[in-house]
Amino acid sequence: MDKKDILSLTLPELEAEITALGEKKFRAGQLFGWLHEKKITSFAECTNLPKAFIEQLDADYFIMVPAVKRKLESKIDGTVKFLYEFPDGERAETVMMSYKHGNSLCISTQVGCKMGCSFCASTKAGFVRDLAPSEMLAQVYGSERESGRKVESLVLMGIGEPLDNFGNVLRFLQLLSSEKGKNMSLRHVSLSTCGIVPRIRELADMKTGLTLSVSLHAPTDEKRSAIMPINKRYDTAELIDACKYYFSQTGRRISFEFALIDGVNDDAVTAKELVKLLKPVSPCHVNLIPVNEIKEREYRKSSRVKEFTKLLCDSGINATVRRTLGADINAACGQLRRDSMEN
Ligand code: SAH
Repeated sequence: MDKKDILSLTLPELEAEITALGEKKFRAGQLFGWLHEKKITSFAECTNLPKAFIEQLDADYFIMVPAVKRKLESKIDGTVKFLYEFPDGERAETVMMSYKHGNSLCISTQVGCKMGCSFCASTKAGFVRDLAPSEMLAQVYGSERESGRKVESLVLMGIGEPLDNFGNVLRFLQLLSSEKGKNMSLRHVSLSTCGIVPRIRELADMKTGLTLSVSLHAPTDEKRSAIMPINKRYDTAELIDACKYYFSQTGRRISFEFALIDGVNDDAVTAKELVKLLKPVSPCHVNLIPVNEIKEREYRKSSRVKEFTKLLCDSGINATVRRTLGADINAACGQLRRDSMEN
């Protein structure tokens, strides 16, 4: 029998498992605390559990602890990039960023990605598999352990499309916000999506408190479909409607990601189209990112970032340019994993 993934179990599930093993129910609470609050890496660390119970746990369950294959720390701003390897050999990238208001962690939700955005390194080698809830948690726990820093906010903006791994992401969020675990408020979590409309609506109905980041990158169907295949499935009108719905259900402003690519989406006409698209969903926020240049495409960083930002702000759209962190370890999202695959 394969060992079970204990870190992916919720407390009620753990209680059911433990009592089925003939143990007292309160032991599940103790164990959950060891796993999610103390973040143990082996059952032997559970000093208040009976030895026989620990042996049984060792026989039936495993604790997801990925190996740290690479760890790069920026000398400029302390940003740390991790490349984790899971027991099956698959890898994920995680980035710890330190701001004045605390530490923020960017985690991956899948190994590879199916979405096919033309500017994105994560999708170039295709999709391998979803990450389990434990594998997302292990990125948080592992990064806290490895860096000695506490994660105060989280962004689901690493490799993968979180709404394409919806069930596991929801379970991960449930575990993360569990009172007996890390107890993280979901108001400190942002989820970034390329725009899977039905899932945005489902998420809105759940009223989780999450901030929704929508990767927009182009304001019209013609321009967006040319760089983001998902737009052919759910067009910009449907997407903006879902964003309006999210705001109306949750009261949380939507954040739109817009990677500025030289000669592709950084001209004044595009800025005007963007203003027109976003007016109905204002107040919102536009995060402008000079595109990260990747090997596979000829895309270049825009030289019109200032002008573009001004055009938006002058029209009443709240827009800021994302600060570059970890420039000296700058492997854009997805590049660390891919480079390690090539080697
Ligand atoms: N699949 C999700 C989350 C992962 S991508 C999504 O699409 O939102 C995280 C963010 O990085 C997205 O906004 C994505 O569009 C953006 N991104 C991907 N490649 C980029 C690049 N080369 N330069 C700038 N941003 C990029």
